[in-house]
Amino acid sequence: MQNLWSDRDARAMVKHYAAQGVAEDLALRVYTSRLLGGEPRLVQHGGGNTSVKTVMRDQVGDEVEVLCVKGSGWDMAAIEPPGLPAVRLKPLQKLARLERLSDEDMVNLQRGNLLDAAAPNPSVETLLHAFLPHKFIDHTHSNAVLALCDRPDGEKRAREIYGRRAAIVPYIMPGFALAKKAKDVYEANPDCEGLILLKHGIFSFGRTAREAYDRMIDLVGLAEKRLAKGTPKRVVPAKLPRRAAGLAEVAPVLRGILAAPVDPNEGRWTRFVLECRNGDRTMTYVNGRDAARYSRAGVVTPDHVIRTKPWPLLLPAPETGRLDAFQAASRAALAQYQKDYRAYFERHNARAAPKKKPLDPMPRVVLVPGVGLFGLGSSAKDARVAADIAETCASVILDAEATGRFESITEADIFDMEYWSLEQAKLGKTAEKPLQRQVAVVTGAGGVIGFATAAALQRQGAEIVLLDLNGDQARANAKKLGGLGLACDVTDKQSVDAAFAAVASAFGGVDIVVSNAGAAWQGRIGEVADDVLRQSFELNFFAHQYVAQAAVRIMRAQGTGGALLFNASKQAVNPGPNFGPYGLPKAATMALMRQYAIEYGADGITSNAVNADRIRSGLLTDDMIKSRSTARGLSERDYMAGNLLGREVRAEDVAEAFVALALARKTTGAVLTVDGGNIAAALR
Ligand code: ZN
Repeated sequence: MQNLWSDRDARAMVKHYAAQGVAEDLALRVYTSRLLGGEPRLVQHGGGNTSVKTVMRDQVGDEVEVLCVKGSGWDMAAIEPPGLPAVRLKPLQKLARLERLSDEDMVNLQRGNLLDAAAPNPSVETLLHAFLPHKFIDHTHSNAVLALCDRPDGEKRAREIYGRRAAIVPYIMPGFALAKKAKDVYEANPDCEGLILLKHGIFSFGRTAREAYDRMIDLVGLAEKRLAKGTPKRVVPAKLPRRAAGLAEVAPVLRGILAAPVDPNEGRWTRFVLECRNGDRTMTYVNGRDAARYSRAGVVTPDHVIRTKPWPLLLPAPETGRLDAFQAASRAALAQYQKDYRAYFERHNARAAPKKKPLDPMPRVVLVPGVGLFGLGSSAKDARVAADIAETCASVILDAEATGRFESITEADIFDMEYWSLEQAKLGKTAEKPLQRQVAVVTGAGGVIGFATAAALQRQGAEIVLLDLNGDQARANAKKLGGLGLACDVTDKQSVDAAFAAVASAFGGVDIVVSNAGAAWQGRIGEVADDVLRQSFELNFFAHQYVAQAAVRIMRAQGTGGALLFNASKQAVNPGPNFGPYGLPKAATMALMRQYAIEYGADGITSNAVNADRIRSGLLTDDMIKSRSTARGLSERDYMAGNLLGREVRAEDVAEAFVALALARKTTGAVLTVDGGNIAAALR
């Protein structure tokens, strides 16, 4: 592992924070915390923690000794000084005299001694930092250290590698008891540079930020060197079907299996967003003949359990053309997983005091041989975190198995960690938004209405995919919103199919589709050229059909319903002169919307349209508005608000109508009008 310390960067950091009134100790603490946090082989998503003992002034200006320690919820890779709340050190150190301390009392004492009452909760490992005497202390869950220690002979190996340089702490769950034990072990080995916490991770310490960091890198380097020694055992691959099914084909089936109905009459499901990983190393793990053993063996470090559950769900390998068999076998495997999880809960809750409430029995990681490792989440972000941690776990297990056998903490220890209130608090439960866990695709998302619609769906919690003929525009808009942007020519069936395959691969499937792309062609119908009419039909009719077809295929594979939404036009209802080439295909699209309503209602798929008129967009440009209002002797404002309500209709209004229809689970075959009122365009 490379040592990334740079005197120049360190000085720059000190200078940068000095300008904000942050002292050197804390600035350097931020600097090396970020160096450690930026290395995924040391720290994953909120894992690890660091501290510095320093002096600050309280409200009246008196100097007070404090421990600045990583706060819960902060990621080390991007930590800032407020992410290292200051706790009065002396009262914490005094706690070492106690024999026992409850979690509630520990949290209460830590919070009660914060200099800033509004600061985040100090790390669950705060007391360990407080009980050791060193000024700077670093803690990581280094992959290499775990790969060496997560074995039956882990302690022996650690002693061989580290000798007197690092002392060994047996596994104890984080909290007061571990802090006491670490203090005892350190005091018996006062010359050591760090501590190896068996089956958990590593601490290093020093008088300076640099010394603690250097020692972390050196100690981890020793573990890496040892892992590289000798001839590794090859992981024997399992036999896979000759014609393995592809990710885009499997993901929606898998997503459907993992979805649970909340209320079928309301069309409500608890879905997951999926994130697939299928790099070579991860596939070696997923495809291993012994995957059922090593994947069930437990976590590589205790705090992973809140993100990955104690073990993943291992499914059979799917075969092309035989997904029905995969589906049936997977449903049975999931039912068994839930049964096992409930039994695990009962087994360990029997000795828990006070009794715990069971968490949901769903996996957070699914292994599909031949296809990939899937992280599951209530959002794409959560799914990514689960996948990152699961990949880290896979990597550590492969390394441990290469020269030995992986062994985790006991199942009872895993349970204690999973159901520890301080760990669950890290997940910070917030109420879910109405469209959370759903994936929405919007076509023509480079334009004004498409962009506003994607933004509105996202505000309701949906993961969004923006498709546009102009891929750069789609990606630029997606970047603004934090969604996925893809180039797609909706008039080309292959391009549409490829885009939907990419969406299924990225998120596991599709729940909402807004078929919005369109353009207006004009011409007097008796004289218009055939190719103009055909061109318009390609975009204003066939494209809607391609998009709906691709979406319905995925929705039916999921079996959890869905929402098809079409951007219709007033031309379909209230045709205007010279707009035949535009209105005719739009009228066909309105019929298309109803046809989907009829044929896929039984699948829980709703099909509806929004009929909008007179919106500033690519269809109605500023120049057109100017010339039309002038031609009618109206101001631009009066022209735009020339409707029953006398109000200009905006792209955001159209977007809200799409959201309303996506949420309406008992409306199908409907056209929702968003035009400020135009009786000539009212449906009859
Ligand atoms: Zn830890």
